[in-house]
Amino acid sequence: MIKLFKYQPKCPWCGKKAKKHTFNTWKPNQDTEPYKGNMMIVRTHYHYFIASDEGDIFDIDFNHIKNVEVLKDGRKRKLSSQDIWDGETYYQPHGHFCRTSCAIKYANAVAEKHPTLSKHNRGE
Ligand SMILES: [Zn+2]
Repeated sequence: MIKLFKYQPKCPWCGKKAKKHTFNTWKPNQDTEPYKGNMMIVRTHYHYFIASDEGDIFDIDFNHIKNVEVLKDGRKRKLSSQDIWDGETYYQPHGHFCRTSCAIKYANAVAEKHPTLSKHNRGE
């Protein structure tokens, strides 16, 4: 039961901050193009390759890999995907809570303090 917020709430039980609600740009069987939209890029993922002795790079099907970037240390990588974020939306995975155990502990604490909240005691 994911819940979205336009601010960064904390879990009411443990205080853990909500995470950014991001989208990943990965698409199957396609070259990933760098994201150029209005959202923020919060993380970039790369796929790293090991070159053959001749310096050629192949994928698992022995196709030449395109758009390879060579780093100063000689490692080769290619853009895999990017996590993009609208700059304001956060989420908690369990309603207001980060974990179901936090929700249960919080519910039990409320039940202890406010027994009149229970359906049984409201006369329903
Ligand atoms: Zn929590």
